Amino acid sequence: MKNAPVCKVCGDCNVSHVASFVLLGIIDSRTWKCGNCNSFFRDPLPSESELQAYYSTRCVRHSEKIEQELASSQAKWILSALLEEGVDSKKLSYTEFGAGRGWLLQAVAGEFGSALGYEPDGSSVQWGRDNLHINLQSGFVDIQNVSALHSEMSIHSMSHVLEHLNDPEGVLKRIADLGETFLFLEVPDGACEGQVMKLDVSPSSSMGQHFISFTNQGMQRFLHRSGYEVVKLDHVGDRKYYSKRVMVLELQNFIRNQMDFLVADEFSPKRGVICFFLLTANCFWTMLKVSILELASKFGYRTRSSMPVLRVLAKSSSARDVQSRVPADG
Ligand SMILES: [Zn+2]
Repeated sequence: MKNAPVCKVCGDCNVSHVASFVLLGIIDSRTWKCGNCNSFFRDPLPSESELQAYYSTRCVRHSEKIEQELASSQAKWILSALLEEGVDSKKLSYTEFGAGRGWLLQAVAGEFGSALGYEPDGSSVQWGRDNLHINLQSGFVDIQNVSALHSEMSIHSMSHVLEHLNDPEGVLKRIADLGETFLFLEVPDGACEGQVMKLDVSPSSSMGQHFISFTNQGMQRFLHRSGYEVVKLDHVGDRKYYSKRVMVLELQNFIRNQMDFLVADEFSPKRGVICFFLLTANCFWTMLKVSILELASKFGYRTRSSMPVLRVLAKSSSARDVQSRVPADG
């Protein structure tokens, strides 16, 4: 397609346009799928200042039980991945960017030499300090924040942050350039989330806040481009998590297409009757399927903590250089 962007994940030119919508209600944008890494991304994006204004009035919070459950699962995964790599976590300083209210920070605090979090939302920072008694500061990946941590071996962490950033590659490069660091990331799994990104064109949709949906293959290439190499990458969660949402979105799109069909040419009673029956049958069938899934969710089936994600431990390329030099120096 003329004027198509290159893939924001792997840099390939083989991308196709899959949807158009008003991104965050701010800018006319498009959703693209990469034919090389199968990741999805939006382009164009709002400016940095438009995003700051947007997020200053929005703060996504789940129940305390779910946030705690997620943090505990992430903390166990991080510590186990470091152990497998032969790293003593007590010798690392842990820094989290976009730490929210600080549940993950609290879950790992006693396991690292030091633990510090940055969060742009002031009310979350205050809540975390008051209730979780953690070292949470206002801010994000500011150069002065990461520079201050340069003196010791670090692990940097971003959970459900990368997909919201205007320039995720630039942010990771800034951190990787500082030297010897590990990186923990958790993002929605693009192999599952992608089908929702393709269908969801509502400006107010929370899915609209995601600018990139990384597949496994895409994440590996993206990290390599950003100065990291993957140490461990796992798929976690339920791959059918989005089933209900996909059904509702398909129904919405079906209704929209039927309406377009109805008004496309001159109206005829026959066409009106066909549309009416098709819409009624499809609405009934979708409501039945959604009700069954709703019922299942009441018995603990599929909550936010079963969202399919990619969990990644990576190491900056410079860290690998440092590690490989150690035996020769000794
Ligand atoms: Zn790609």
